Amino acid sequence: MARYKDEQCRRCRREGQKLFLKGSRCYSDKCSISRRNYAPGQNGQKKKKLSEYGTQLREKQKTKAFYGVSEKQFRKYFDMASNSKGKTGEVLLQILESRLDNVIYRLGYGSSRAQSRMLVTHGTFEVNGQKVDIPSYLVKAGDVISVREVRKDNGTVKVSVEENASRPVPEWLEKNVEKLNGKVVRLAAREDIDLPVEEHLIVELYSK
Ligand code: SF4
Repeated sequence: MARYKDEQCRRCRREGQKLFLKGSRCYSDKCSISRRNYAPGQNGQKKKKLSEYGTQLREKQKTKAFYGVSEKQFRKYFDMASNSKGKTGEVLLQILESRLDNVIYRLGYGSSRAQSRMLVTHGTFEVNGQKVDIPSYLVKAGDVISVREVRKDNGTVKVSVEENASRPVPEWLEKNVEKLNGKVVRLAAREDIDLPVEEHLIVELYSK
């Protein structure tokens, strides 16, 4: 388990920025990026100049790691975005934000996206009164996401609610902590998304 946790921090150090993969630790001074902000490995402290392809690839890898999705899923979302009417890069991020595991994390009912994904697969939540245990489920404007009645005493959810009480909820979501639910007011716009990514680089990579 310890090794797995280290793997998460190595991914952040590889990208040179916080990807918030480990819950409350990411917001503390124990964060590895705060202590060792250089790439892992023997040559990690040497500055490397990336090629154009390398820069585009790193941007994609960073975004995949941030949301915890596989290459196959990511490509599927890219295809959905490129077939939509909006700007491909922005729609791609909007789709990723709309995943149920991300919404649970944004609402603070999970401390990280990985923990939120685990809670979803264990049947902790319902959407509009129907149990949903698929982390990739895409929410829509107007959806209400709630902790299921039978899971309201879940210790992990209780700890997450306490730990994340001060973490801001983005404007596109509305949280009701007394009822343990949240509403999707609208889908996320680019300015709502705090991920420091240049999405046009991902579009360029897949357009080659
Ligand atoms: Fe580790 Fe910090 Fe990345 Fe969190 S943000 S996974 S603590 S390096």
